[in-house]
Amino acid sequence: MQAITRKFGKFTLRYRPYTLELRHVFTIAAGSRSTTPVVLTELEYDGTVGYGEASMPPYLGESHQSVSAFLDRVDLSGFNDPFHTADILTYIDELAPKNTAAKASVDIALHDLLGKLMNQPWYRIWGYNPADTPNTSFTIGIDKADVVRQKVLEAAPYKILKVKLGLDTDKMMIETIREVTDKPLCADVNQGWKQREEGLEMAHWLAERGVVFLEQPMPKEQVDDNAWLTENSPIPTVGDEAVQRLEDVRRAFGVYSGINIKLMKCTGMREAHRMAELARALDMKVMLGCMTETSCAISAAAQLSPVVDWADLDGALLTSNDIYRGMEVVKGKVILPDTPGIGIRLNG
Ligand code: MG
Repeated sequence: MQAITRKFGKFTLRYRPYTLELRHVFTIAAGSRSTTPVVLTELEYDGTVGYGEASMPPYLGESHQSVSAFLDRVDLSGFNDPFHTADILTYIDELAPKNTAAKASVDIALHDLLGKLMNQPWYRIWGYNPADTPNTSFTIGIDKADVVRQKVLEAAPYKILKVKLGLDTDKMMIETIREVTDKPLCADVNQGWKQREEGLEMAHWLAERGVVFLEQPMPKEQVDDNAWLTENSPIPTVGDEAVQRLEDVRRAFGVYSGINIKLMKCTGMREAHRMAELARALDMKVMLGCMTETSCAISAAAQLSPVVDWADLDGALLTSNDIYRGMEVVKGKVILPDTPGIGIRLNG
């Protein structure tokens, strides 16, 4: 895949592949890896440039090739006003099914562009107070005890840790972490538990050890089991794999206590904002997550963070070759830059 530039009247769309290097081999119930392919996009209108990104962890099915093929099909020549956001993003969404990261790469660039044209950061446009941002968790992948201990020490600035569970090492992971810290934890099971009674037993065991919520405890297809666990669990549950887009929020109501919103699953900032507001209206918890991403997609997601209960926005911190700077984490808390759009600039 090459760097591509395409012009449509006053719009110019650029995209190029990039490979993010991870600081540590990252293991979750679905497998291990040390890089993540991303595509970096730019949408220019009349001299102003918005930045966007698609991140494609392999288990989600998109790749450099698929995102490039999707973006090759985009034709913005029917649009002459970037503020026709609904028209533009409906057109993008209807170009092909799925391809959610590819769609997000256009959505984020368009939002960055619009924020710059309005000279306001998105959290202000949405009416959120940047003082309300949450602490972000730092993720500890499934690993050997000595590596887990070392990662917990590296996570010293963070006030909450996210622990990946779902293999037969769950109790070892928690006991190892508890040897080193008494910080609150959240547990992401990534659909790893199969029996609801076993899940409930683990939920109690984890709650007694300071775990504050459970992400996607059982396979998303086991709707009744997840609902039963949510009903009986001493701590809230959050649907992640079960919740991709806006329509899934309604289905998650009554099955999980909350939802995990990620820009790469839901096609970007426009839909993420609608999901958060709908979940709030349903009195559900809202978590904001990410893939391994540069500070571009992370800073875009962070614009929504003042309205969420929990944030897991460590994706750029897990990488060693981020090309942007934007949202910062200071003493574990998300700090939003007072900069128009998604608030990023080139690193260095
Ligand atoms: Mg998750």
